[in-house]
Amino acid sequence: AEANPKAHVVLLPSPGIGHLTPLAQLAKRLVLNHKLSATIITFSDLSSGIQQSLLSSLPNGVTSVSLPAIPLDDLSINTHIVTRLSVMISRSVPFLRETLLTLQKTRHIVAYIIDHFGGETLSLASELSIPRYIFCTTNFFYLSFLLNLPSLYHDKHDDHNPNQFLFLPGCTPLHRKDYSRSAIDKNSEVFQWMLRHSKHHDQVDGIMVNSFEAMEGGPARFLKERGNGKPPVFSIGPLTCNSRSDKRQAESGVCLRWLDQQPGRSVLFIAFGSGGTLSFKQTKEMALGLEMSGQRFLWVVRKPVDVDASSAYFNQCHGKHNPLGFLPEGFVERMKGKGMVVPSWAPQEEILAHGAIGGFLSHCGWNSTLESIVNGVPMITWPLYSEQPMNAVMLVEGAKVALRPTVMNNDEVVGKEAIADVVKDLMEGEGGKDVRKRMHELKDAAMKAVGADGSSNKALAQMVNKWKTMASN
Ligand code: UDP
Repeated sequence: AEANPKAHVVLLPSPGIGHLTPLAQLAKRLVLNHKLSATIITFSDLSSGIQQSLLSSLPNGVTSVSLPAIPLDDLSINTHIVTRLSVMISRSVPFLRETLLTLQKTRHIVAYIIDHFGGETLSLASELSIPRYIFCTTNFFYLSFLLNLPSLYHDKHDDHNPNQFLFLPGCTPLHRKDYSRSAIDKNSEVFQWMLRHSKHHDQVDGIMVNSFEAMEGGPARFLKERGNGKPPVFSIGPLTCNSRSDKRQAESGVCLRWLDQQPGRSVLFIAFGSGGTLSFKQTKEMALGLEMSGQRFLWVVRKPVDVDASSAYFNQCHGKHNPLGFLPEGFVERMKGKGMVVPSWAPQEEILAHGAIGGFLSHCGWNSTLESIVNGVPMITWPLYSEQPMNAVMLVEGAKVALRPTVMNNDEVVGKEAIADVVKDLMEGEGGKDVRKRMHELKDAAMKAVGADGSSNKALAQMVNKWKTMASN
């Protein structure tokens, strides 16, 4: 179908495949279902292989433009991801201005869409008179938390009471230890960035959320009804790739061929997103715990690091040589047939859609969570950084579609016994039965939301109609 050349949408996903994926899905739907045209502006220097293959899979009508590399060598190597992303984006403004001005010569840009980290570019869009939107690539729970950050910042009580719960309207009570990791230390530079990003959410024409009402009715209703001159909020999710309709890629062959040989729902999939890594000690316990559980598994293993759980985010080497020497001796051989270990990266969406998968031990990144939901795969939560602890709370205590390991050796390392227990329970125990049943119900609700008459589909259509009217005036 011909895209409507008049109404054009520009999307600026912040660096990282977890941000590009949902914004690219949004662009795809705007073009295929609503006949708009779209430009995705990308940052050049992250995970370019994976980024390229994602971008090249998009339909005609979605164009991508890459910004020149933005040097960050002046930042110390320990600089937090949020600070890195934020600095990179604010430095991109001059290049972005050129890109938008060029597009405006031939297009009517009806919407400029950023994610949580793109706020430093909003004043540019308003200078060019382009309507501005935030696409929240996480959920209503996190959005509520982020919008509440300024009051958390001024709440002295919160600092001095480590056992305090935060009661966000309509949300599961949130213990301090489960706050988004980027917002724990109020005196940090990263907290200051988070505060800035929080305030940007008041400066837009609308906020879209990659979630759905059946999952988060409470906070969704609250945010939609808050009025008071605040931007309207729309739930338009879950937007995930539907890999079943795409053909299998060559590099994905090994995992999928192995899965083809396993019994239905018998394999636990283990992955920690695009940047998550475990410590050496934890990687070893994970291996021993999986072995002890006696269950089949497919594990995406990344070389351990002991410094920062998000350290692979800016140093990705997916698909490259990654010797597995850090695993317990003889582990890979002992597990032959029963467990498969894949270095660095695997085709997660195709794996989760495979009938042999019976569970997903995940870092609870929001895309991974949605991919598990749309495939009805129950989860074990293993949050590492960012808002992942909040997602885990929502999955275990809110939606009750996930289990979590119970016994900890100490604050940091989960022991092999606890891992074996929770894995067995998910794959063949009573706990697993309950969460699997609820996950199936949630899957049905998710499919309904994005179906023809679904709430998410309608919300998106409502926004698109507004844009089309604007373009025809
Ligand atoms: N992913 C993948 N293979 C991997 C790890 C991750 O395809 O081995 C994909 C996954 O399907 C998801 C995205 O990368 O779409 C990760 O996004 P998420 O929000 O879950 O986590 P983040 O990487 O942002 O922490």
